[in-house]
Amino acid sequence: MFAGHYAAAIAAKAVEPKAPMWTLVAGCQLVDIAWGAFIATGIERAESDPSLPGSTLILSHMPWTHSLPAAIGWSVAAALAAGALLKVSARVAVLIGAVVFSHWLLDLLVHRPDLELFSGGPRLGFALWNYPVPEQAVEIGLLAVAGILWGASRRTLGQAAWPAALFMAFLVALQIVAMLIPAETGPVTPAMGLSAIAAYLLAVAASLPLDRRRAASGPP
Ligand SMILES: [Zn+2]
Repeated sequence: MFAGHYAAAIAAKAVEPKAPMWTLVAGCQLVDIAWGAFIATGIERAESDPSLPGSTLILSHMPWTHSLPAAIGWSVAAALAAGALLKVSARVAVLIGAVVFSHWLLDLLVHRPDLELFSGGPRLGFALWNYPVPEQAVEIGLLAVAGILWGASRRTLGQAAWPAALFMAFLVALQIVAMLIPAETGPVTPAMGLSAIAAYLLAVAASLPLDRRRAASGPP
């Protein structure tokens, strides 16, 4: 899942427009940004098998990012960091934490059983990846529903809908590009971890203009 994770960020922005969009966009993929870093440094491991349907990833070892306790830890840390460093309200901090945790719940839906309930414990995953067409439909459907909520919220605030639509089109384009890159058999390399981080940071960068206020009109 790539684009579908952003549905949580977009829905959160619709619920709480004061939350900085970039924090939600980074938050919904925080666990995967850490995963990219841990793959690049060899702390976590994954392999790729192009014969698999949907995602070609075999996520063999990722206790620090995708186990349930780790996901809770990242969520609490993100909420605390947002409150302390960005001085957001407690409501916004909790929302950012919830968006970080949404990543694990959405991964649970699509991953083949690889999400540890606790270190060394049973591995969970409802494996929607094994059914690529419904899986893509769920991702795009979630994004569409969140986008409708976001558009309605922006209208209430007197903001144009097109920047939101453009951002979502960008996410779908990134997803298509990621799907077109041919997978190779074997371990996921540090370079692949870094390119995953680059894609997530690109989405964060694309979200930055969304909070920019319209310049006040009138005489200089
Ligand atoms: Zn993930």
